[in-house]
This record gives sequence, structure tokens and C-alpha cells, in this order.
Amino acid sequence: MDKIKMTTPLVEMDGDEMTRIIWQMIKDKLILPFVDLKTEYYDLGLLARNDTDDEITVKSAEATLKYGVAVKCATITPNKQRMEEYPQLKKMWKSPNGTIRSIMGGTVFRTPIVIDAVKPVVKCWKKPITIARHAYGDIYKAVDMATTEPGECVLVFKGESGKEEVLSVQKVDGPAIWLGQHNTEKSIRDFARACFAYAIDLKQDLMFSAKDTISKVYDGRFKEIFDEEFENYKAKFEELGITYFYTLIDDAVARIMRSEGGLIWACKNYDGDVMSDMVSTAFGSLAMMTSVLVTPDGKCEYEAAHGTVTRHYYRYLKGEETSTNPVATIFAWSGALRKRGELDGLADLAAFGDKLEKATLDVISSGRMTKDLVAMVSEGVSATAMNTSDFLDAIAGELAKLM
Ligand code: NAP
Ligand code: MG
Repeated sequence: MDKIKMTTPLVEMDGDEMTRIIWQMIKDKLILPFVDLKTEYYDLGLLARNDTDDEITVKSAEATLKYGVAVKCATITPNKQRMEEYPQLKKMWKSPNGTIRSIMGGTVFRTPIVIDAVKPVVKCWKKPITIARHAYGDIYKAVDMATTEPGECVLVFKGESGKEEVLSVQKVDGPAIWLGQHNTEKSIRDFARACFAYAIDLKQDLMFSAKDTISKVYDGRFKEIFDEEFENYKAKFEELGITYFYTLIDDAVARIMRSEGGLIWACKNYDGDVMSDMVSTAFGSLAMMTSVLVTPDGKCEYEAAHGTVTRHYYRYLKGEETSTNPVATIFAWSGALRKRGELDGLADLAAFGDKLEKATLDVISSGRMTKDLVAMVSEGVSATAMNTSDFLDAIAGELAKLM
């Protein structure tokens, strides 16, 4: 069999610990036998980031802007404990995902991988629900303070022109707490564009929710910007038969609970943080959740939503067998290869992405899966726990049949 050819390289961002081990296994067992893989490789492993003063992370993000598609392995974000574990670290390097996001901009979309054998907690959910989380501002870039005496708090904006705008927040007669938060029109506009572009890509309805009845100016502006931007996508939405609508967050929650899924829910930063945890938990687990960063002009970085699975890595280092779930990382690869195929007009590469996903789901449906999934299967499904390597071999077997 001839291997599938690629024309443009995929930006490959390698990572850390157990996911780094799985990364290599996925390439060896599932991709290299079938695809003449062309990647521009960036090692985002913690020590390589340290050796290059984190330049490698910046370069990998720039390469993604150049080529348009990247696939990323989970990486360690160092904290105090990691500084002790790796004494050679020059600095407590920033989160690679944060660095990449600040260079690329864009929005993170998280989608659960849904299989028949694992039933969502919410019984009417049949199709995945994708959460689009605005990743800038609001309480994540706020200042807050506590005061102890009676008084008044005012909000002052000092324009560069010298003009000042002043607004009384509240007069209080005792101790109080305060929060000042903001967002920028540019960031909200980029968020809206990324959401519309992604809905077109997935050919799914898009819902945006906020609380503009209470926060008339702040959330009201979000709603207006979405409406303004939608004008540029309206024709395409109509052509595809998909819809965009705004609704109050309360109504959105009620609708989601009654829906069968299969839509994209755009959320403000805090709502997206909370709702993505709710959706992933209700569908199964983080190990079955994919994540993609999409820029307003459609550049994509695919990854798993989980971390480097440290506990499993230490067992692996001791020579013990591990049953780490590779599905979200496989889907990061399949998503990136499919996107590359679509952009380059390579139908067989795009089809390979679909086949890789089908082979993975077929193996799970046949009852062969990693340990974490065995604990989740519906009553009546007989499931056997496999180690990661055997599970990947089983997928390779199914994939060979589909090719
Ligand atoms: P984690 O790696 O997601 O793992 C937390 C626990 O969830 C694991 O110990 C495991 O539970 C379970 N789990 C997660 N993924 C699994 C999988 N694929 N298969 C089976 N079980 C899985 O999160 P963490 O322990 O909080 O973080 C570890 C490191 O990852 C940290 O250094 C953090 O900085 C990094 N991180 C990176 C990213 C990213 O690059 N996107 C995201 C989050 C965290 P059991 O041990 O009970 O089996
Ligand atoms: Mg959260």
C-alpha cells in the first residue's frame, strides 16, 4: 500500500511525561505506517523549553501562524513542586498554552468524544456539545479589594485625550469588597469571529449566552458585537442551514439540559470555565475531551484537554504497565491531519483523519478499552481493560482494515 502523501508540514509540538510516551506510540503504530508524515517538529518538553529560554514555544506558535495547523502534546506548566523536581530549571516558565494563546489569539473549543458504550449523565444528550470559551478578560484579569470603613467607591476612566469619565459604584456604610474588571472590543470581536468560523467548519448551530438583562452595558456590548459580526457570516449560515442565536445564560442552561446536543455554545470567560467542566463530566471524562485553539482567520492548534498524567508516568518509569487513555491525543492528531488535508485539497489525508477516529471508536465499541473507560461503560456492555500499548495495537488492526 502506498502511504498517503502530504504537501504542507504539520506543526508538531511534543510534550512531557506520559503523554510524550503515548505521542511516540501513536506516531509509530497509527500514523507512520499509513502516512508519509511531514511535520515541522518543536520539542516543547520542559527541559527543551528550559534550554532555549522558552524560545521554542514562541517559535512553534509562529510556525502555526505560518502553516495554519498544529498538533500539541500535553506539557508541564512548572510550579513550585516542579522547580524542586527539576533543579536545572532556570525559571518557573510560563504555561506553554498561555504563551501560544497570547501569540495566536483565538478561542478554545472543547468537544467531548461521544461513544455509544458510555452514556452521558444527561439522558437526552445524543451528540457532543462544544463549549467555546472566551479566553480573555473579565474576572481573570480583574483587580479586587476589601475596604473596612464607610465610604464610596468610584470608577474612573482616564482617556489619553485627557477626558475623564467617573461613575459611582456604590456608597457603603461598613466593610465591603470590590472588583474592577474589563474586556476589550477587539478581543470580543475576535471571539465572535472565531465562533462563527468554527460553526461553519463544524456545520453546527451556534448559541451565545450572557446576562444582558442585568449587565446592560457590559454584557450588552458582547451581544451587540456578536450581532454586528454575524452580518458577515449570515449568508454562509443560511447556505449551510445552520443558525446563530443569542439567549440569556439562564435560558441557555435550560435549553442545553433539554437538548440532544450537537451544537456549539459560546460562553464568556467564567461561564466557559464552569460549563466546560460540567459538560465534560456529564459526558464522561477529560480523557475523552478534545480541545482546539482557533484563530479568527481559521488557524488551528489541536490537543487533548487533559494534562501529562504524571501519576501514570511514574508508574511507567518503574517499569509497570499503564492503562493511560490515548483517545484525546489520537483525536488531536486525527483532527490536525484532517484539517491539513482539507486545506491542501488532499482528500485521502482528510479521510485518514476520519478513519483513524472510526477505528478508535470501533475498538472501544467492541469492548476493548483503557481502564478509566471500563469504569464508565453502560450497564450490559462487557468491557475488558487493556494497557495503552495493546489498545493502540488493536486500533492499528482496525485501521489497517479500513485503509
Ligand atoms: P492530568 O494530567 O490531566 O491528570 C489528572 C488525573 O486524571 C490523572 O492522574 C488520571 O487519574 C486522570 N487522567 C487524566 N488524563 C488521563 C488519561 N489520558 N488516561 C487516564 N487517566 C487520565 O492533570 P494533572 O495531574 O493536574 O497535571 C499533570 C501535569 O499536566 C501538570 O504538570 C500540569 O501542568 C500539566 N497540564 C498540562 C495541560 C496541557 O498541556 N494542556 C493541561 C492540564 C495540565 P488517575 O491517576 O486516578 O488514573
Ligand atoms: Mg475550570
